[in-house]
Amino acid sequence: MKVALIGAGLSGIKAASDLAELGHEVVVFEKSRGLGGRLANRRKPWGSLDIGAQYFTVRDPGFQQQVAIWLKAAAVKIWDFSPYRVEQGQLTPSPDDTVRYIGSPLMNQLVHSLSDNFAVHFRCEISTVEKSRDGWSLLSSDGDIFSGFDWLIVSSPAEQSRALLVSCSDVMADVPESVHQPCWALGLATRGEIAEDVQGIFGDETVRWVSRLSSRPGFIKAPDIDDVWMLHFSPEWSEQQDKKTTMDIGQTGLDWLRKMMGTEIEKVAECRHYWRYANIKPIAFNQPYLVDECQQLAVIGAWCAGGRVEGAWLSAVKWVADFVEL
Ligand SMILES: Cc1cc2nc3c(=O)[nH]c(=O)nc-3n(C[C@H](O)[C@H](O)[C@H](O)COP(=O)(O)OP(=O)(O)OC[C@H]3O[C@@H](n4cnc5c(N)ncnc54)[C@H](O)[C@@H]3O)c2cc1C
Repeated sequence: MKVALIGAGLSGIKAASDLAELGHEVVVFEKSRGLGGRLANRRKPWGSLDIGAQYFTVRDPGFQQQVAIWLKAAAVKIWDFSPYRVEQGQLTPSPDDTVRYIGSPLMNQLVHSLSDNFAVHFRCEISTVEKSRDGWSLLSSDGDIFSGFDWLIVSSPAEQSRALLVSCSDVMADVPESVHQPCWALGLATRGEIAEDVQGIFGDETVRWVSRLSSRPGFIKAPDIDDVWMLHFSPEWSEQQDKKTTMDIGQTGLDWLRKMMGTEIEKVAECRHYWRYANIKPIAFNQPYLVDECQQLAVIGAWCAGGRVEGAWLSAVKWVADFVEL
């Protein structure tokens, strides 16, 4: 079967990889210039920073087996630390027994480590899709047309999948209209001494999470800085200060960090990214994918399976397992 797959995040590439292994001809369309989707990073002279997912956890036994394979191949490492949390404006140790995993060297290694026995069109945003007697046709925003696909699988965030598909299929009206909340992500390179055991912080209503990226195993930083941090601002704060904000996000993040650390750390460099689709809201959608069998159309993605990295993997695996039965 000839399958068109939109999106090269973890769910899309896991599905593409498994379908290709089953002998299907798969073509992936990705609007950005690389693999990984929200397992994205920025490469800076002062260090390479994961700007999306910071780590992942495992609950599902099948995913645990996948993680064991990744660990053996050194594509994944354990990030072993005891988190802190903010309580009444103060950092407080908050030890837990959660095992936290990271992609190595960066989170997108999870996607890079999957087999690549399929074609990928990068920088190819699909703006319209259409079903005819000859199968699915996809039109890119640059005006390219790709035709003759038996199946179409879409792995973008729910809001984008719905917008693309709702006019082609009544079933796709079940894709929720609003699933995600935004997140401002701020990377900081700093100088100044901070206690070694502060590696991850569950924050407050302004900054929701902080990773001390320079403490992660294998992180390489420039010699003239002491630390690299990633701050994820809360959904509520990020919604208020949307993408067009005039607020100095870098200074706000630095001030927050200084206050929590109780010390005058110095900012050497920063980078920032506004995620439109980050945190998932509680939604009434409890199936790992949505399929319109008549139209030979499916949507998959982390959002169908609880969000998170594990959800992306599970959605793809469950879809491919059921696709084989169709
Ligand atoms: C700031 C942030 C922090 C997070 N923190 C964590 C965490 O700590 N732990 C955790 O487990 N999870 C975390 N997550 C969630 C996790 O990253 C995602 O759930 C998961 O990576 C989503 O994978 P996916 O394949 O479903 O979607 P995506 O990774 O979003 O992949 C979809 C792909 O589709 C492409 N695309 C969309 N529309 C089109 C189109 N029209 N044409 C072509 N391509 C298109 C996109 O460019 C993207 O590459 C975080 C996410 C964010 C943003």
